[in-house]
Amino acid sequence: MSRAASADIDLNAILHNYRLAKRLAPASCAVAVIKADAYGHGAVAVARALHGDADAFAVACIEEALELREAGITLPILLLEGFFEEDELETIAREQLWCTIHSPHQIEALKRTRLPQPIHVWLKLDSGMHRVGISPPDYQTTYNTLRGLQNVGDVVLMTHLACADELNSPNTDAQIACFDAASAGLEAPASLANSAATLAWPQAHRNWLRPGMMLYGASPFTHPQDHADHLQPAMTLHSRIIAIRDLQAGDSIGYGADYVCKHPSRVATVAMGYGDGYPRQAKSGTPVMVKGRRTGLVGRVSMDMLSIDVTELPDAQVGDTVEFWGKNLSLNEVADYCNTIPYTLVTGISRRVPRRYRASASARPGKVPADPAGVSTGLDPESRIPSIPLA
Ligand SMILES: *Cc1c(COP(=O)(O)O)cnc(C)c1O
Repeated sequence: MSRAASADIDLNAILHNYRLAKRLAPASCAVAVIKADAYGHGAVAVARALHGDADAFAVACIEEALELREAGITLPILLLEGFFEEDELETIAREQLWCTIHSPHQIEALKRTRLPQPIHVWLKLDSGMHRVGISPPDYQTTYNTLRGLQNVGDVVLMTHLACADELNSPNTDAQIACFDAASAGLEAPASLANSAATLAWPQAHRNWLRPGMMLYGASPFTHPQDHADHLQPAMTLHSRIIAIRDLQAGDSIGYGADYVCKHPSRVATVAMGYGDGYPRQAKSGTPVMVKGRRTGLVGRVSMDMLSIDVTELPDAQVGDTVEFWGKNLSLNEVADYCNTIPYTLVTGISRRVPRRYRASASARPGKVPADPAGVSTGLDPESRIPSIPLA
């Protein structure tokens, strides 16, 4: 036996959620966003599970893309921030990665370099988020410049929405209007929708969706939303009780001794802590599930252990499984208790926690390629790159 902390990943739930995105926008293609190791779920495993269904994948950087190529993933992979250094361009062309272009310095680099074959680019407009992207007044000229470059193949027009998770924020309409004005007359596919927009802003669907969080079954919203309610949670984080003690009123628990029992209490210690990525800011009362019943944290989370109240669960014993989020306890609810968002919880799960892949009966698996270790990417570097479907 070993330490019991683990994260069960239900790949069929991810497939179900991807298919839900596509059903909501039947005329659109969708890049499955699997950056940050698929939000902590394991990028290679998720890519393999989606391989028969996904139109393309998206990651944040070339290292993440190469990990997928080395694992035999041959679908297009979009780099959401493009390249950071000019010398990445060669690899981008060779591996047939799609490349976001968000800044003039990237265009200068594209002009200077001689690439063995053109690359497909996604030209990002800054429609109001003000992190990266071409300013609206420069968008059309930048587009025309790109079109004239030998190094550039197809161009997709893209922007990113800052407030799509706020259902009555005026920002989203303003950003969509900005995008439409800046891209008026340009004959190219468009991409605006993250998970929140996929679920709630059909006017942002366009040609290419970019769902991320929803694939993993958490809602991007803080309130119930019709479509989000159909998502299936992909990660179940759990561990086991390793000790139980009976405490008296006045006894304190954990570091800082700042939780003090008001009544005689039965307290269980569980092998889970911030060293596993469980959030230290989870306060007393943050829910957990034991044997199908809810109880809560008591005292501070430490690196390898935390404590839960089992006073009302007299049959709880050493060895029992404790679920921290997943099939029986929503990640969204836990995130609320921790004053954070589901994104930080799942991406924060550390290497120490083994991911165990399971397939529920919720959806039939897609065509999952057998472990293709050692297999080449299957991409012929001499070939003319296939064009980006318009959807
Ligand atoms: C991360 C990311 C997404 C996915 O966002 P979710 O809210 O997880 O759906 C989409 N587009 C871009 C540009 C991103 O960086």
